[in-house]
Amino acid sequence: MDKEERKRRMKIPRQKMPEQDPKRRKHNSEEVPYGFSEETAMQEARRCIKCEKPLCIEGCPVNINIPEFIDLIEQGKFIEAAWKLYEQNALPAVTGRVCPQETQCEIKCVLGKMKGKEPVAIGRLERFAADYERKHGSIQTLAPEKPEPSGKKVAIIGAGPAGLTVAGDLIKLGHEIVVYEALHEPGGVLVYGIPEFRLPKEIVRYEVSNLEKMGVKIFLDYIVGKSRTIDELLNSGYDAVFIGTGAGLPMFMNIPGENLVGVYSANEYLTRANLMKAYLFPTYATAPIQSKKVITVGGGNVAMDSARTALRLGAESVIVYRRSRQEMPARDEEIHHAEEEGVEMNILTNPVRIFGDEYGRVCAIECIKMELGEPDDSGRRRPVPIKGSEFTIECDTVVPSLGNKPNPLISMTTPDLKTTRWGTLECDEDTMETSKKGVFAGGDIVTGAATVISAMGAGRIAATSIHEYITTGKVTKPKKEEKKKKDKKKDKKKDKTE
Ligand SMILES: Cc1cc2nc3c(=O)[nH]c(=O)nc-3n(C[C@H](O)[C@H](O)[C@H](O)COP(=O)(O)OP(=O)(O)OC[C@H]3O[C@@H](n4cnc5c(N)ncnc54)[C@H](O)[C@@H]3O)c2cc1C
Ligand code: SF4
Repeated sequence: MDKEERKRRMKIPRQKMPEQDPKRRKHNSEEVPYGFSEETAMQEARRCIKCEKPLCIEGCPVNINIPEFIDLIEQGKFIEAAWKLYEQNALPAVTGRVCPQETQCEIKCVLGKMKGKEPVAIGRLERFAADYERKHGSIQTLAPEKPEPSGKKVAIIGAGPAGLTVAGDLIKLGHEIVVYEALHEPGGVLVYGIPEFRLPKEIVRYEVSNLEKMGVKIFLDYIVGKSRTIDELLNSGYDAVFIGTGAGLPMFMNIPGENLVGVYSANEYLTRANLMKAYLFPTYATAPIQSKKVITVGGGNVAMDSARTALRLGAESVIVYRRSRQEMPARDEEIHHAEEEGVEMNILTNPVRIFGDEYGRVCAIECIKMELGEPDDSGRRRPVPIKGSEFTIECDTVVPSLGNKPNPLISMTTPDLKTTRWGTLECDEDTMETSKKGVFAGGDIVTGAATVISAMGAGRIAATSIHEYITTGKVTKPKKEEKKKKDKKKDKKKDKTE
C-alpha cells in the first residue's frame, strides 16, 4: 500500500454501531446493538492499513487471519469473509459479540497505537460477516469436501464453546464425533448464562446446526458421571475423550440469611430467565421471578447480566460491589450499558447479612461501606470495611454473583483424573492431556471461570493433540519456538466473572 493510500485510510473515523434506546430496551429482551450495515462494514474495513506485520492476529487466541477477512469485507465478499472466519473459529457470530476484543485483537491493532487513532473495529466486522452469512448464504456452499472417514471415534463431554470447538476441528479431519451434553440445549454458558439481549439464542443454534450438518452427533440430557462414566465411554469403543464441562458450580457469600427464599445464585437466576425462557411467560411455563427490588452482588460480566435481566423482568435493580467502579472486572461496555439502562451502582459496599420475613422470604439486606487498602494478590487494592458504616436496603431478591467453580461430578467418578486444589483438572497446557491416558480437557474446567475465546483456544490445542493421539498413538509437545510464540499470545487478562 502506498503512502497516500495509507494516509487516506487513516483519516476514516471508526464507524459507530447503532443501538436500541436504553429507555426502550430495558423493557425488552431484544439485542442491544443492531450491527453494521453493508456500507458501514465496508467503510470500517477500509480503515485497515494492511500491516506487513499484522499484530492483531497475535492478539487473537484462535489465530484468525484478521487482515484477510477484513479485506474480503472491503471487496464486498461477505460470505467468503465468513468462511475465512470459520477456518479458525467455529462460532464467529458468538465471539464477534461476546469477546473482550478491547483487551485482545483490538488492543494490538497497529492503527489503534497511533496518536489520536482508534483500532479497527475487528469484533464488529467479525459479527457482521457471520451475521451476513447466516442471513444470506450457506456455509455449505463454500465448505471443503467431506473428508474420508478415519474410522476413529471421539467422545466430547459438554457442548460449550470448548467442546464445540473440538467437535468442529475433529469432524473436519474425518473422525466420528459424539457430544454428550447434560442440559436440553447445546451451547453451555452461551445458552444458559449470557442473556438473549447480549447474544440471541437463534445465533448459537445456527452455529451448532452448522456443526451438525458437518456430521457432529449431539446427545442432550446426558450427564457423564451419572448416565455413563468416562471409563465406560473409553471401554465402549471411543478412541479418546475430551472433557469440556465448564465451571458451573456457583460460589456463595457464606453470610447469614443466604438460605432464605428469594436468594438465587446468578447461574440459577440467569438459567431460569434464559434457557427456561421466563421472560416469555406465559408462552413458556417457567414462572418468572417477579421481584420488586433485586440486589445483585458482584462486579463482573455475570453480575451485569443478572442486574440487567432483573430490569427486564420488571424489577428495580441494584448492584452491590465491594471495590471501586474502576476495579469492576466486567467489560466497560457492559458496565456502561447497565448504567444507561438504570441499574443503580452501590460500589465500595459489602453485604453482611440478609433479613427474612415471618415466611422465610428475603425482605432486606444489611451492607457495610468499604474503603480501599493495600493491593492484594490480584494486584487490586484490598477492600477494608469501615467500622460503624452498616446500613440496610429493603429488597425481595438477592443474587450473589461471585464466580463459579467446576462441578466435581466428573472427577469424583474418574478416580485417576488429577485435580488442582481449586477443583479444576490438572492438564498439560501445551497439549491439554489430563493425567488419564486418552483423556483431554479444556475451557473453564481447566482454567476456572474465564472467557469464551480462551475456552475455544484450549479446544483447538486439544483437537490437534487428540488427532495426533488417535492416529499415531502419541502426543508431541510443540517445539520451543512454537511454544514461545503461543505463550506470548496467551490471554493473560482473564475476563474475571466475579
Ligand atoms: C453469565 C455469564 C456471562 C459471561 N459473559 C462472557 C462474555 O461476555 N464474554 C466472554 O468471553 N465470556 C463470558 N463468560 C464466560 C464464558 O461463557 C465461559 O468462560 C465459557 O462459556 C467456558 O466455556 P466451556 O466450554 O469451558 O464451558 P461452558 O460454557 O460452561 O459449557 C460446559 C457445558 O458442559 C455441560 N456439562 C457440565 N457437566 C456435564 C456432564 N457431567 N455431562 C455432560 N455435560 C456436562 C454443561 O451443561 C455445559 O453445557 C460468561 C459467563 C457467564 C456465566
Ligand atoms: S493490526 Fe489493525 S490495521 Fe493492521 S492489519 Fe490488523 S486490523 Fe488491520
